[in-house]
Amino acid sequence: MRRIVILGSTGSIGTQALDVVRDSDELEVIGLAAATSWEPLIEQAERHGVRRIALSDESAAAQAAKAWSGGEVLGGAEGLVELITESGCDRVLNALVGSAGLGPTVATLGEGIDLALANKESLVVGGVLVMALAEATGATVIPVDSEHSALYQLVGAESPGHVDRLVLTASGGPFRGRSIEELEDVTREEALAHPTWDMGGRITVDSATLMNKGFELIEAHHLFGVSLEQIDVLVHPQSIVHALVHLNDGASLAHLGYPDMRVPISYALHHPDRADVPVETLDLATVGQLTFEEPDVRTFACLRLARDALRAGGTAPCVLNAADEVAVQAFLDGELGFTGIAEVVERALDALPPEPVGHFSDLYRADAAARETARELVQGVAA
Ligand code: MG
Repeated sequence: MRRIVILGSTGSIGTQALDVVRDSDELEVIGLAAATSWEPLIEQAERHGVRRIALSDESAAAQAAKAWSGGEVLGGAEGLVELITESGCDRVLNALVGSAGLGPTVATLGEGIDLALANKESLVVGGVLVMALAEATGATVIPVDSEHSALYQLVGAESPGHVDRLVLTASGGPFRGRSIEELEDVTREEALAHPTWDMGGRITVDSATLMNKGFELIEAHHLFGVSLEQIDVLVHPQSIVHALVHLNDGASLAHLGYPDMRVPISYALHHPDRADVPVETLDLATVGQLTFEEPDVRTFACLRLARDALRAGGTAPCVLNAADEVAVQAFLDGELGFTGIAEVVERALDALPPEPVGHFSDLYRADAAARETARELVQGVAA
């Protein structure tokens, strides 16, 4: 039995991961963690027989401890770290949202524990240090994101040096084909209606701006050690082809399947094995058509900003992410228009030139500065 800890278990990836664990003979979940949702977390612990939970929010942890006598409740950022390092787990699924996921990623890899990674920010913000840490302790990072899971399977089957280019596909989001003028007045509800994937609020808005694809490009660069120039983004509205690799002999390999996160989650939890997942077999005759087009980076500036940030290096991707977190939240709260998201991120990148990153503390500092700057910019842009 492989013992699993799930961080972010009450979110979209976390709940699907619990379904995968329930259906698997190979996996046992021994710890669950969330940020603030203590009631659903206790329910999950009861349902899955888990005796140890953690909440990063101290007051949520205190409420859970008062309400639950079925096991131990850990609290705060240290509580999450304790859950990871002292539960005797074999693999951690990090499905936390935002840069709050970086600390638990570091704790997991620092202990040499294999990491199923769904928290994008760990690599977007701390990619260089995170991959170096995994290398140093011998822990494996197995991506959960559908595109990266696809690439992991495609690239992993090839000898080094045979892969020429990587291609990440993108659904294009709900606003594909619109002009920048048509985007100015889109509402929160429109942005949250993703055509093919059912996900949490922030990632759905990031998919609508294409910032999500920008983050994925940065992740792919770190995970697979390929340069920015070797990674293409291709809009593919049906989300059937998850990724492609072009090989040195002219062959191209693609990874296909219906969009269903249980597939990459199961892969990341069972790797190097595979387990049955109750999904339909892909029927291409019924799908009928697969279409592809270039992304419109003029309208969806976030994709360009992500490339620029990766090229600039240092703290720039960290600033990109922090400013985006603040701007997306402001959009969801009705304080900022949709096109204001890219504007705030671009101005934050201009205001905070990249600095070298030698330690994780450099990232935490840059993250805090970028949030403060972005909050001021939100006020300015909204006014
Ligand atoms: Mg994805």
